[in-house]
Amino acid sequence: MPHDDHKYVFVIGGVMSGVGKGITSASIGSILQDKGYKVNLVKVDPYLNVDAGTMNPTEHGEVFVLNSGLETDQDLGNYERFMDRDQAHEDYITSGMVYRDVIERERRLEYGGKCVEAVPHIRDEIISRFQRAANKNDSDVSVIEIGGTVGDYQNIMFIEAARVLKIYNPKNVQFVLVSYLPIPDKIGEMKTKPTQNAVRQLNSYGVQTDLLIARSEKALDQKRKEKIAISCNIYPDKVISAPDIESIYDVPINFEADSLGQILLDGLKLESRSENGLIKWREFVDKTKSAEKKVKIAVVGKYFDSGEFLLSDAYVSVIEAIKFSSYEMNAEPEIFWLNSKEFGKDPEKVEELREYDGIIVPGGFGERGIEGKINVIRFAREERTPYFGLCYGMQLLLVEYARNVLGLDDANTAEIDPDADHLIIDVMESQKDNIENSKMGGTMRLGTYEAKLKEGSMVRRAYGKDSIEERHRHRYEVNPAYREQLEKSGMIFSGVSPDGSLAEISELPETEHPFFVGTQFHPEFLARPLRPHPLFNLFIKTALDRQK
Ligand code: GLN
Repeated sequence: MPHDDHKYVFVIGGVMSGVGKGITSASIGSILQDKGYKVNLVKVDPYLNVDAGTMNPTEHGEVFVLNSGLETDQDLGNYERFMDRDQAHEDYITSGMVYRDVIERERRLEYGGKCVEAVPHIRDEIISRFQRAANKNDSDVSVIEIGGTVGDYQNIMFIEAARVLKIYNPKNVQFVLVSYLPIPDKIGEMKTKPTQNAVRQLNSYGVQTDLLIARSEKALDQKRKEKIAISCNIYPDKVISAPDIESIYDVPINFEADSLGQILLDGLKLESRSENGLIKWREFVDKTKSAEKKVKIAVVGKYFDSGEFLLSDAYVSVIEAIKFSSYEMNAEPEIFWLNSKEFGKDPEKVEELREYDGIIVPGGFGERGIEGKINVIRFAREERTPYFGLCYGMQLLLVEYARNVLGLDDANTAEIDPDADHLIIDVMESQKDNIENSKMGGTMRLGTYEAKLKEGSMVRRAYGKDSIEERHRHRYEVNPAYREQLEKSGMIFSGVSPDGSLAEISELPETEHPFFVGTQFHPEFLARPLRPHPLFNLFIKTALDRQK
């Protein structure tokens, strides 16, 4: 069972999803870290997928990749950005992982002939995963976000694990319920009943929440605070009002204004070890509010036309990376969503791109919208509009270059047309078996790889060093057979794998184009509020220069 002095904060959602559990967890983590504790953040996703890699972004939002290559939920991106700290492999847990391990153990007879059941075996596997994550991070406190909402079937075992941890050591565990208080239009008044019911539902699992984060359109008034406190068995000063705000980055500061950090430390019987007062974070937030310029960036993607789905979720790390670098350059970014499909149909449509200071084609998969993206890239190259291609955006940059500069008309990527004469982007030998035998989950080139940067290149200057580590997620690669030909006609492979075999970055010389850069990796995964990404910085700077 748990070692004696490790602390846990469990964050659970009430009433409905999508009200900010992830940002609450990230903010709690950053506040406790600021108070001098080593904190690790864990995300629990109750679905049966073993990781998030096989889910469509229109279902699930962005897939965030860790250093280890684990494909996770986008919340882990927020954790890294708020904490300015890399998440460990162990910090992501799905029901699929838990059940798979228990069942595999059963098949190896490791349960000694016993009947294997949800309780205790699944529950204890969950507890041991919580501990493994804490040990891996060598942390003092684990903040664990349990996905879903109280009342779901799927997350019950995780709440049960948390309950058991609290029974073993009540002073080591705090529960935080992030609940929603609707203000129905017709009634015009904030209603507390759904939240009361969520608290009681949690009670029926044997868990009493210690804190309640009251999410609503407006701030909670004193009367409702007391009403919730009395009906839900929570001290009034532990009912924290969390009204809608403009920027997620304000959340830690607002929580601190309500002494959330101190309340949690008190609950965990800890003393504050430092009084930084989130100073660096406040400096960053000030920057987001004082930008004097504007920069217009077009993001050309395909996950934009799927009914009610929130578009920005599919590209959240890209958006945040653009924001951090814009603020760094004293500019407020205006981000425009352009559906790549539209640019495939009508050749004149690219003219509309003139109004943007820079264009990004982010990562993607499959055929839809491809020809549109290639038309956009051609426009950016010919019109010398700053262009940044991320993963698929780099692969298509090279396909475009091969078609329109090298004159290889049917140049393509094997992902779209494996029979094309000129496969500029191809499958490496190591991937063939995966594709032929549908071994799709967790088999791409995933996670952190090193790259060497070419002397004199734009990217080397931007990074200010000759070797980098960046995170990958792709199955296809630049075909080595075409590298020489591409280089001869002006393309520079300014980043390559340490053995030189894989192309990781391509750029055109500055004399040709102010910023025409593609990366096989996803730089957006490493962009942080307190450490904007060097390539996004240069991209935004070039976009701003162009305005002059
Ligand atoms: N579909 C491409 C590949 O698998 C690019 C992937 C991406 O953009 N993340 O190689």
